[in-house]
Amino acid sequence: MPVSVRRYSTAPSPPSPPPERPSNRLLPLTAGFVLLAGGAYLYLAREEPPLLGYDRWTPVKIKSITPLTPETSLFRLEVPKALLPPGLGSDPSARPILSLFVKEPNLQIQRAYTPLTSSSFNPSGPAELDLVIKRYADGELSPYIHRLGPGDELTVRGPAITWYYRPQDWDEVTFVVGGTGVAPAYQFVKDMLSASSIDTPKVSIVYASPSPSRILLKDSLDAFREQDPSRLSLHYLADRLDPNTSSKTAPQDVTIAFPDGMTLKKLLGKKEDGKRRVVIVCGPEGMVEAVAGPRGRNFSQGRVGGVLKELGFTEREVVKL
Ligand SMILES: Cc1cc2nc3c(=O)[nH]c(=O)nc-3n(C[C@H](O)[C@H](O)[C@H](O)COP(=O)(O)OP(=O)(O)OC[C@H]3O[C@@H](n4cnc5c(N)ncnc54)[C@H](O)[C@@H]3O)c2cc1C
Repeated sequence: MPVSVRRYSTAPSPPSPPPERPSNRLLPLTAGFVLLAGGAYLYLAREEPPLLGYDRWTPVKIKSITPLTPETSLFRLEVPKALLPPGLGSDPSARPILSLFVKEPNLQIQRAYTPLTSSSFNPSGPAELDLVIKRYADGELSPYIHRLGPGDELTVRGPAITWYYRPQDWDEVTFVVGGTGVAPAYQFVKDMLSASSIDTPKVSIVYASPSPSRILLKDSLDAFREQDPSRLSLHYLADRLDPNTSSKTAPQDVTIAFPDGMTLKKLLGKKEDGKRRVVIVCGPEGMVEAVAGPRGRNFSQGRVGGVLKELGFTEREVVKL
């Protein structure tokens, strides 16, 4: 079969003949060719799917925005079918937590966000993607995102792998999360429960919020637990009760406590020999530091500190997202 290749030659080319003036008879033919080529270009450009990718920015449309709390909303995006990140398919037992970068179109700032399910990146998954985004009044990017409305576009890049689980590494995955830091735990559990494989870990989530009404996605999380209580345990913590509520009217499955040493010791228990457990910590910086110690330089993990160090967890067993 003939293969057309493009050659790069260092040999000198023969001198070109002087250009001939096109005869008038050729003009209609040339014009027809130009029109045909232009039409083909426009047709191909129209048909090219705007795939998401780690190395390119793609505008995607905001389909709807649902407020969850005064500062936090769920942004549903319309996604074109995406390419999976390179290497993702090489180990089918690996379960990644994926994130997506969003940027402000006119400024060079980008921030990572965690979709509620990674199956949106799968060609056979849903053609929409949900991001739960908190607005920081003095933040650079989140106020811009919150000013957008349905029909507007967000410029995104990804997916990127935030962390991945492999059954040969861990028997149990524990999340200690706060605020929108629940998103990676949510994605991991939702994808795990919808997978047909039985090769899945036990998962526990300790989810800290300022008050019971600020617990995000609670109904869905409760439904996940009902779906498989043997594999998923959930513990909700709140710093305080909401105004005008009492411990009698507050949800009974929320404990008023901080994720401090005493509480986590009770919920996580002491580290057991022979039990391969990883603890993923994700939330406001102060919470991550208190639970797992400060991050290292240049966003590296740093040493394990805080409560998890007191409970005996090592660097290998703790991940700060
Ligand atoms: C992998 C990953 C996934 C994430 N997923 C989500 C998600 O699903 N949802 C979500 O809402 N967020 C998520 N985040 C956080 C998100 O990326 C942004 O950090 C967040 O939206 C704030 O961005 P911003 O530009 O609005 O605020 P920033 O400008 O980054 O500021 C945020 C806050 O920090 C303070 N601040 C900024 N710089 C400093 C400093 N040097 N010292 C002290 N304080 C400072 C600001 O005053 C402000 O209150 C994720 C982060 C990562 C790394």
